[in-house]
Amino acid sequence: MLSPQKNVRKELNAASVLKKVMADHFYELNRASKAGSPKIAWCTSVGPAELLRGMGFLVYYPENHGAMLGATRMASDLIPYANAIGYSPDICSYLTSDIGAYLQKKTPLTKSYGIESIPRPDVLVFNTNQCRDVQDWFSWYAREFKVPVFGIHTHRGIQTLHEYQVADIARQIRDMTPELEKISGQKFDRERFRDSIRLSRRTSHLWRACLESAAAVPAPWTFFDATIHMGPAVVARGTPAGVDYYEILLNELNDRIQNKIAAVEGEKHRLYWEGMPIWGKLRPLSDQFASLRSSVVASTYCNSWIFDQLDPDRPFESMAAAYTELFIVRDETYKERYIRDCFERYRFDGIIFHDAKTCPNNSNNRYGMPDRLGRALNIPTLVINGDLNDLRCYSEEQTRTNIEAFIEQLDEMGK
Ligand code: SF4
Repeated sequence: MLSPQKNVRKELNAASVLKKVMADHFYELNRASKAGSPKIAWCTSVGPAELLRGMGFLVYYPENHGAMLGATRMASDLIPYANAIGYSPDICSYLTSDIGAYLQKKTPLTKSYGIESIPRPDVLVFNTNQCRDVQDWFSWYAREFKVPVFGIHTHRGIQTLHEYQVADIARQIRDMTPELEKISGQKFDRERFRDSIRLSRRTSHLWRACLESAAAVPAPWTFFDATIHMGPAVVARGTPAGVDYYEILLNELNDRIQNKIAAVEGEKHRLYWEGMPIWGKLRPLSDQFASLRSSVVASTYCNSWIFDQLDPDRPFESMAAAYTELFIVRDETYKERYIRDCFERYRFDGIIFHDAKTCPNNSNNRYGMPDRLGRALNIPTLVINGDLNDLRCYSEEQTRTNIEAFIEQLDEMGK
């Protein structure tokens, strides 16, 4: 095995622009929340954001706030407050940490942006394409703020996406518009909606290009960079800010490729990350992989904000298709085929599966997939036990040892 070297991942210059995009997003919401205008819609991260933007709402994403609670390591202390009102420690730790933070009147927005509290919703809109937890999460806030909550109920376990499924979801999205009109106080404007889809589609194309740049050898960036730089793909899609940001980022990544600048100096191993990030441990994990000259070049998670289907000429149907063809909505056969396709593109040497204790929906190791994929691709796989936000489910020491042994195995196999 190569002896571990002092090596850290190289930061991207675009990070300073990223900070401004994220700050502008939260300041705009904060102003609107205080003024009562424009109206604010809370939306799940793969919910119908383009419709909401098109109807004049500002859009706030509780999952993004959940990830911030994880990354700032505030989450583990806040989860018990949600447990105390009956939300199990076994359910989504975004939900429990976010509700716990609300109950304790705490938010990472204060330290980062000087913002006292999360923006008050005028309406909440979820899509169960990812899980049922979002429905319970949003319903709790709807009761708390006494505002309406609307949901799209998506088909699950899909292998082939059928027309009848797309038509059903499109109808559910369409059916929301009269109620949303009443709340926003604005008439539904089809042109504005189409504009928002157009911008989202462009953001999505650029985001895909950024992610796929990591197919280059050496990879110009890693999964750990992408988890940070995906912020605008979530919160600024459907706006010009999202498009502008990914043009800047893509230019920098292409420059790195041209100049053979590696994110991880002396890249020796390339890996795939399957599952949620461990938000509170991104830095130590990134440093460990870098010191082992290993680049995590691709992930299912970051790919979840690629919406190829969006089409301004078929706004409702294309949005329905885009949000239903996601990896998380699909069956095992589709998921395995998807990762095999990623293998063809990124040529990784091994797969790390993160078994996130409180998110079975994003933990794909539980029904034999690591074994099946490992055999099909002739590469080793490793399962890490942890969680997205609840660090009480994660052993740093054990994970470090397991990763070291895994990289040693790659060395021995000549990968
Ligand atoms: S998919 Fe997982 S992490 Fe995301 S909201 Fe649902 S349970 Fe939470």
